[in-house]
Amino acid sequence: MRAPHLSIRLKLTLGSLLPLFVAILFCSLAGIYIIITRINVLAQEKVRTDLNSAREVYSNEIGHIRDVIRFSASMPFAAQALSADNRQAVTPFLSALRQNEHLDILTLVDKHGRVLYRAGNPAACGDLDSNGDLTSRALRGEVSAGSLVFPPEQMLLEGKELARRATIDIIPTERAKPGAKKSEYSGMFLVASAPVKDAAGDITGALYGGVLLNGNNAVVDRIKQIVYEGVQYEAKDVGTATIFLDDTRISTNVQTRDGKRAIGTRLSAEVYNRVIINREKWFDRAFVVNDWYFSAYEPIFNLDGGVIGSLYVGMREQPNTALKKKVNLIFGGVLLIGSLFGLVVSGFTGSHLSRPIRELQRLVQRFSAGERDLRIATETRDEIGELAREFNSMTGTLMQREAAIHELNRSLELKVQERTAELESKNLLLLKTQEELVRAEKLAAVGELAAGVAHEINNPMAIIRGNAEVLLMDLPPGNSNREEAEIISQQVGRVEGIVGNLLSFARQQRKALRRVAIDRSLEEILRQVGHQVQLEGIELRRAFSMGATEIEGDENQLRQVFTNLIVNAVQAMENGGTLTVRTDCNGEEGTCRVEIGDTGSGIPPEQINDIFTPFFTTKSSGTGLGLSVSYGIVENHGGTITVTSKECEGSQFIVTLPLLQATAGRDGMGERART
Ligand code: ADP
Repeated sequence: MRAPHLSIRLKLTLGSLLPLFVAILFCSLAGIYIIITRINVLAQEKVRTDLNSAREVYSNEIGHIRDVIRFSASMPFAAQALSADNRQAVTPFLSALRQNEHLDILTLVDKHGRVLYRAGNPAACGDLDSNGDLTSRALRGEVSAGSLVFPPEQMLLEGKELARRATIDIIPTERAKPGAKKSEYSGMFLVASAPVKDAAGDITGALYGGVLLNGNNAVVDRIKQIVYEGVQYEAKDVGTATIFLDDTRISTNVQTRDGKRAIGTRLSAEVYNRVIINREKWFDRAFVVNDWYFSAYEPIFNLDGGVIGSLYVGMREQPNTALKKKVNLIFGGVLLIGSLFGLVVSGFTGSHLSRPIRELQRLVQRFSAGERDLRIATETRDEIGELAREFNSMTGTLMQREAAIHELNRSLELKVQERTAELESKNLLLLKTQEELVRAEKLAAVGELAAGVAHEINNPMAIIRGNAEVLLMDLPPGNSNREEAEIISQQVGRVEGIVGNLLSFARQQRKALRRVAIDRSLEEILRQVGHQVQLEGIELRRAFSMGATEIEGDENQLRQVFTNLIVNAVQAMENGGTLTVRTDCNGEEGTCRVEIGDTGSGIPPEQINDIFTPFFTTKSSGTGLGLSVSYGIVENHGGTITVTSKECEGSQFIVTLPLLQATAGRDGMGERART
C-alpha cells in the first residue's frame, strides 16, 4: 500500500505539534485527574468535619435539655411538692417551664416511680412510669441525657398530641431497604432526667423531660445554619442535615423534587446496613432522595447503647460537579489555546525549515526540465544547507559532464559526417569506375567488330578507288559517263572516311605529342567548319582566355574532337542560334577547359547517357561515331568530356585537358579495348 502523500512542511508541523499536543493533553488529563480527585477528597474531608460539627450541635441540644432538667430538678419546689404529694404546687411551675423551654415531655415522678405530674398531659397521673431506664437512672441519683425512642402508647400518655405529631407517613424511596411499613408511629426524643432531692439530700423523686424530634426540624436547621451557613447553589441549599429514626427521615432539610422537606423518605439499604446494622460511620457519595451527595452518617445510640437511628450531614455534589466542569473547561481551553499556539509556531517553523527543501524541489524540477546553471542560495550550516551545497556541486559536475558528452557527440558527428562523405565519394568513384568498366567493355567489343569490318572493307574499297581512278583517267572531259565515275570516286572517299573513323575508334592511335595552342586551333577549326556545315543564322561567340598558352597533346586528334563538337552544335541549331566557344586555363590545377555551347534542340534526358555510345545517332546521315571517338581521344589525353543539356534550350559540352601529358601517356598507344 502506498504511503499517503504528505509534504515536508506538514510532517515537520505534525512532528513538532504532536509531542506538544500529547504533552499538553497528558498534562491536562493529569491536572484534571489530580484536581478532581482533590476536590472529591476535600469535599469528603469537609463532610467528615461537618459530621463532627453536626454531632456537636446535636449534643449541645441534649446538653441544653439536660441542664434545664437538672436545674429544674434541683429547685426546692419539686422536692417540696413530692414530699407533700401536692401536684398542685408544681403545676404552674412545670407547665411554664415546659412552655418556655419548648419541651414536649416534662414529668415529675416520686421515688417509687409513680407519676406525680405530667406537664404534657396533666390528666394522666398516678401511674407507674414506664420509660424504664430514664427514670430509674435518675432515681439512682444520676443525671442522664440522650436520645430515646418512645412507643406510641407512651407518647399518648405523655402528651395528647404527641402520638399524632410523631406519626410520619412513609414515602416510598429508591434504594431503600425492602419493607412494608406505611407509617412510623414511634417518636425519637432528646431526653434528660435528673433526681429530685430533699433538703437532706435524699432522693425523693425524679424529673425528666424531652423534645420530640419527629417533624421537628429545629435541630437539623441549626446544624445547617451553623455548619453550612446557609450557602446555596442554584437557589437550593448546598448543605443538608437529617435525623433518622431507624431508616426513616423524621427531621431533615433535604428537599424532595417539589421543594418540600423529605420527611418520611427512607435511608438507602446500603447505608442502613452499614450505619444501623453494623453501627459504623459512612463517608462516601450517597444518593439522597433525588440527588447525589457527599455524605456522612453516624449512628444515634439510646441510653442503653442501642442504635435507634442516625445523624446525617451531606453536601450536594452539583456545585462540585460544576467546579469540575469548570476545571475541565479551563484545561480544555488551555489545551486548545496551547495547541493553536503550537500549531501556529510549528506551522511557521515547518514552513521556515521546509522552504529550502521546496526551493530544492523546484530547482530539481527545473533541472529535470533541462535548465542548467541552477544554484541554491542557502547559507544554513545544517543538513539542509549541506544538501543544498551537494546539489550545487552535483549540478556543476553534471554540467561539466554534459559539456564533455556534448563535445564528444559533436566530434563523433563530425567524424561520422567525414566518414559518410568519404564513403559517398568512394561509392561515386566505384559507380563511375563500374560505368567506365561497362563502357570500356562495350567499346572494346564494338571496337573489335569495327576493326574487323573496316579491315575487310578496306581492300575492296582500295580496288574500287583504283578502278574508279583508272576509269576517270580513261574518260575524257566532257564524257557523259565521267560524272558517274566521279560520284563513284566521291562515295568511295566517303566510305573510306567512315572506315577511317571506325579504325580510329577501334584502335587508338599513338599520340604525336606537340605543343598545341588551343585558342589558335579552335580559331582555325571555326574557320574550316564553314566549309563543312551551313553557318547561316548562327551567331558565333568566342570567349578565348588561354591566349598563347599551349598544352601538350596530339593536335590532330584534339582538332578532331573540337571539330566534332562544333559541327554537332551547329547541326543542333537548324533554325539558327548562338554558338559559344569558351576557353580558360587553371594554372593551379594544371588543366585547361574548353566549352562548346549551343542554343539548339538540346538532348532529351532519356538519350543523354547514350550519346557517347558508338553508332548512336539521331541523324539520318549520321554515323554515331563522332562523340565516341572524341571521348576516346580526350580520355587518352588524360582528360574528361562532360555534357549538360536542356531540351529545346541547348547543350554545353565541356572538355577538360591536362596542360601536360603524363610520361606514360607520351608514347601511349594501344587498343581501345585496353583503356
Ligand atoms: P553523329 O553526329 O554522326 O550523329 P555523334 O557521335 O557525333 O554522331 O553524335 C551522336 C548524337 O548525339 C547525335 O546524333 C545527336 O543526336 C547527339 N548530339 C551530339 N551533339 C549534339 C548537340 N550539340 N546538340 C544536340 N544533339 C547532339
